[in-house]
Amino acid sequence: MKKTPYITREKAEEIAKKWPTPFYLYDEKGIRENAEAVKKAFSWNPGFREYFAVKATPNPYIMQIFNDYDFGFDCSSLAELMLADAVGADGNHIMFSSNDTPAEEYAYAAKLGAIINLDDITHIPFLEEILGGKFPETMSLRYNPGGVFRMSNGIMDNPGDSKYGFTKQQLFEGVRILKEKGVKHFGIHAFLASNTVTNEYYPMLAAQLFELVAELHRTFDVHIAFVNLSGGVGIAYSPYDTPNDIAVIGEGVKEVYDAVLRDKGMGDVAIYCEMGRFMLAPYGALITKAIHEKHIYKEYIGVDACAANLMRPAMYGSYHHITVLGKEDALRDHMYDVTGSLCENNDKFAVDRLLPKIDMGDYLFIHDTGAHGFAMGYNYNGRLRSAELLLKEDGSVQEIRRAETEMDYFATFDGTEFYGSLQEQYRELRG
Ligand SMILES: *Cc1c(COP(=O)(O)O)cnc(C)c1O
Repeated sequence: MKKTPYITREKAEEIAKKWPTPFYLYDEKGIRENAEAVKKAFSWNPGFREYFAVKATPNPYIMQIFNDYDFGFDCSSLAELMLADAVGADGNHIMFSSNDTPAEEYAYAAKLGAIINLDDITHIPFLEEILGGKFPETMSLRYNPGGVFRMSNGIMDNPGDSKYGFTKQQLFEGVRILKEKGVKHFGIHAFLASNTVTNEYYPMLAAQLFELVAELHRTFDVHIAFVNLSGGVGIAYSPYDTPNDIAVIGEGVKEVYDAVLRDKGMGDVAIYCEMGRFMLAPYGALITKAIHEKHIYKEYIGVDACAANLMRPAMYGSYHHITVLGKEDALRDHMYDVTGSLCENNDKFAVDRLLPKIDMGDYLFIHDTGAHGFAMGYNYNGRLRSAELLLKEDGSVQEIRRAETEMDYFATFDGTEFYGSLQEQYRELRG
């Protein structure tokens, strides 16, 4: 599907006067339309709730938008729990799905009344001690079926190789133990494949999990409150991919729900999900300016963002589509590597990419970076994280996180003999 930026070159120029490039820009209209579509796709299930995976875009202004749809938040760290609390989420709207969890984080999740999703059977006694022996009435367990997970288009993932979850035997043992300890309602969670660009993934996963909870219900006569399909619903990063259709996905899950659960008297099981990428990736872009061109054995365009702002291409070799603003319809007849400034040769946003001729000062719109983009930023080479901006529905722009300054980078040297000099230099540079 053709990729169209949600701003023009003129708009980018206007924004850059106030917030110099690089910056992230999120599209509120796109976020809201998609959130509506998700809600509608699962409206057949009265208990349905999306718990937005905070790690994808940990910004309270973005999270707040999801409050309007009664979504919750999937958290996996103390900071993420704090963000969920800060935007007003109550315990029922917080899912704590972590692994290798520090005791302090379980304690805080319990204090907020979050739904705790255990990653391992050994966490039952670990958590029991933290809670002083009393479990919440509702507990969730994360399942790992092992082996491989295959879909008909050849997409495959390898749960047997992943560190998450209980084996099936452990899961049964876990439910038995927790029931004995007074837990009344159970949820089952699984995350078996990532960035699946097929409408088949959720229904296939749901079929496995519905069979499993029916068996748990039969075996232990426990109440299954929810099945959490987690994340993994992908987006079309390439214009040649076909985007997922959430309405088709919702309908596919409904069909297996009706076939497997309804006739077993389990028609009150709520469907939860924890999508991150699908909720935000297409509705965020990294906007960066071309500042250098270099002709050696290949043609390079140097931009003012780097992998510290967007790590996915360097880390996974991910494709992110690039539009040169103002040249949307120009012939893509130049082959470039688009690079950042890190002293790392993998700091490239694109390799051998056909783009229109790029002139210095052109704005590059790097698509589909709204999830796992800013969030994965880091400070290597003393590079700073950019601002995050929200393009509101009325066309105005709101700063939802300021850009870092050098003094943020140096903040952890506060109180040392070097801090005075750093501060003084900063003042001279920036006033
Ligand atoms: C990362 C993660 C998600 C979100 O995954 P997406 O692929 O971004 O949808 C959901 N749940 C858990 C437990 C995760 O770790």
